[in-house]
Amino acid sequence: MPSQTGQIAAPPDDTARPEPLLRVRGLCKYFPIHGKGLLQRVVGTVRAVDDVSFDLPPGEMLGLVGESGSGKTTLARTILRAIDPTAGEVWFRSNGRPVNLAALPPKRLKPLRTQMQMIFQDPFSSLNPRMTVGDIVGEPLVVHRLARGSELKRRVDDMLARVGLKPEHAGRYPHAFSGGQRQRIGIARALILEPSLVIADEPVSALDVSVQAQVINLLGELKEEFQLTCIFVAHDLSVVKHICDRVAVMYAGKIVEVAPSDELFDAPKHPYTRALISAVPYPDPDRPMQFALAGEIADPANLPPGCSFHPRCTECVKPCKATRPELIGLTQYRQIACHLYTQDRSV
Ligand code: SF4
Repeated sequence: MPSQTGQIAAPPDDTARPEPLLRVRGLCKYFPIHGKGLLQRVVGTVRAVDDVSFDLPPGEMLGLVGESGSGKTTLARTILRAIDPTAGEVWFRSNGRPVNLAALPPKRLKPLRTQMQMIFQDPFSSLNPRMTVGDIVGEPLVVHRLARGSELKRRVDDMLARVGLKPEHAGRYPHAFSGGQRQRIGIARALILEPSLVIADEPVSALDVSVQAQVINLLGELKEEFQLTCIFVAHDLSVVKHICDRVAVMYAGKIVEVAPSDELFDAPKHPYTRALISAVPYPDPDRPMQFALAGEIADPANLPPGCSFHPRCTECVKPCKATRPELIGLTQYRQIACHLYTQDRSV
């Protein structure tokens, strides 16, 4: 369980390698299920995020992919402490020192909020319709008392230009803009504080296909310009393929495969990753769709024993129904949780 004291201490397995900006260890988010009746007893648990660990080096864009219900959005929100974790550690490097966000009291968390920002999925509901675009984009600077007056206006105009909008757009309201433009406004608001960590939660899935590529290209350009360290959450693998440096695949609250983006798409190893990639449409009418994923995603309130994917897996081997596979390193940059890649299959 997270410490109640908010103490800052070094993570236990610090190494001599370049320090990651973010180090997540054993992160869990469980939601209790309450029964009916007066006492509302806890009758079950939804394991939305279950023992997730990974490192995120500075300047890297990590794709977090999986079907709806795999836990990726809950993981993203738990990392930012939009919701409190049930257990685990989230070490975030702030001013050169690691800080465990999972254990910080809200008062000490607030100043760190300027360094971590989120880009939301729905550009229609995430912008206040009663505020002008200039006020929306500049609000974080005002709240944190970082700019006002002409300096505030200069920074807002500058940020609008960087996301492809014009200074005259600052005086208009969100309803006057298309979905793609609204997402640009959301991106401008997230980046105006120049955060060191950005989490983009399905930033293009609410947009028309015709504007998705524009917003993805914009994020790619901004990543280079701002040297962004970013977690890009998506259920569509084709979205993360070209923009992310590494991809982590989630299933039933756990990371099941992590690999550099090129390696993952050229040679996926986990059966679930292979099935997801087989479902990515190709612009070739002669190439048939080969979607190899049958059945529903595992219920996080009632996970099957062993590997959570085994009821859907076409390559199930003897230990799969009894033993949960651990995430192991295949190479320095590649990890997988699957019994096909462990030595001992005799369990
Ligand atoms: Fe399939 Fe077994 Fe690997 Fe799970 S551990 S993905 S069931 S082969």
